[in-house]
Amino acid sequence: MTTVSAYAAPSAGAPLERTTIQRRPVGENDVLIEIKYVGICHTDIHHARDEWGRGGFPLVPGHEIAGVVTEAGPGVTKYKAGDRVGVGCMVDSCRKCENCLRGLEVYCTGGGLVATYADTERYTDGAPTQGGYSTHIVVDERFVLRIPDGLPLEQAAPLLCAGITTYSPLRHWNAGPGKKVAVIGLGGLGHLGVKFAHALGAEVTVLSQSLRKKDDGLALGADHYHATGDPKTFEELAGTFDLILNTVSASLDGDAYLSLLRTDGTMVYLGIPEKPVSANVGSLMMGRKSVAGSGIGGIPETQEMLDFAAEHGLGAEVEVISAEQVNEAYERVLRSDVRYRFVIDNSTI
Ligand code: NAP
Ligand code: ZN
Ligand code: ZN
Repeated sequence: MTTVSAYAAPSAGAPLERTTIQRRPVGENDVLIEIKYVGICHTDIHHARDEWGRGGFPLVPGHEIAGVVTEAGPGVTKYKAGDRVGVGCMVDSCRKCENCLRGLEVYCTGGGLVATYADTERYTDGAPTQGGYSTHIVVDERFVLRIPDGLPLEQAAPLLCAGITTYSPLRHWNAGPGKKVAVIGLGGLGHLGVKFAHALGAEVTVLSQSLRKKDDGLALGADHYHATGDPKTFEELAGTFDLILNTVSASLDGDAYLSLLRTDGTMVYLGIPEKPVSANVGSLMMGRKSVAGSGIGGIPETQEMLDFAAEHGLGAEVEVISAEQVNEAYERVLRSDVRYRFVIDNSTI
């Protein structure tokens, strides 16, 4: 075991503070990664406040990890010391079920994925996994991604969660030329959804609470930008979209947003509100509309997304902070005051 520095929430809702944690020895197929940057995902905040009741305290959040390999176990074939790598929301799965064999480890039916933090795994004797707000992490190479050259590590980190979470549904529901895509919420997920949808060739609309970030949205690649606080938006855009990505972490009026879909359109839930969401069945019937959900993406698709991002010169818009600013950053995310992802410089941990 190696002792490394970390930032942890000692209990639900308590401010994060500096601490130390143990990392397992580097095993046969493991790599030891020196974490350079870690993104602050809204999910980290949901967990640190125990909004989903997952526990795992003291909790070291962080599943948007970018760093450099410093050691590779004897059985590792894909990585060597010095390689630029990333780790996202999962660090293991059963590896044997139909979904794992298809590269959809996120939907593992053999016990579920092992989340990067606040989960249990075979290596830790029931102790919770601990995430990337730390200086180092040990991960099996099967769950490690290669960060292509040319993609700065701080811009790559948020791609490991926010990037794949938006890229995967855009690909699954065939966003591309001739398709009209709306992204609800211009935050961490949303701004990458706009960039990926634009890069894939779709016509992109941002649906934000106000017009405050309109210039940014258009600069990120959106073709249109509307305020959902203005009731006229829902009249003007009725029946418009083939696909809506809902990245909002709060509950919204399901019927109002379903009215924006055209026939056969799909609204995909990506944000995870604390309370159940609802809509009237009539809102789905008239237009054969679908409501769906999508969780991050599998490992092969995450690599595809990173390669696509590098090819298109596409990274996250980040504000790099030091570790002691993390509690303030959480407050700003909750106020939708983030442009567009806070990323911790892990050398400050
Ligand atoms: P974020 O940076 O806080 O962005 C969320 C955006 O939603 C805000 O910027 C804001 O955009 C909008 N918003 C916030 N509160 C709102 C409200 N009350 N009404 C309407 N709009 C509101 O969060 P994030 O990191 O992108 O994460 C978003 C959600 O996705 C979280 O619930 C997170 O847990 C979840 N998530 C899911 C997955 C998955 O696998 N499905 C992966 C990662 C994260 P505007 O200011 O533009 O309105
Ligand atoms: Zn996340
Ligand atoms: Zn599985």
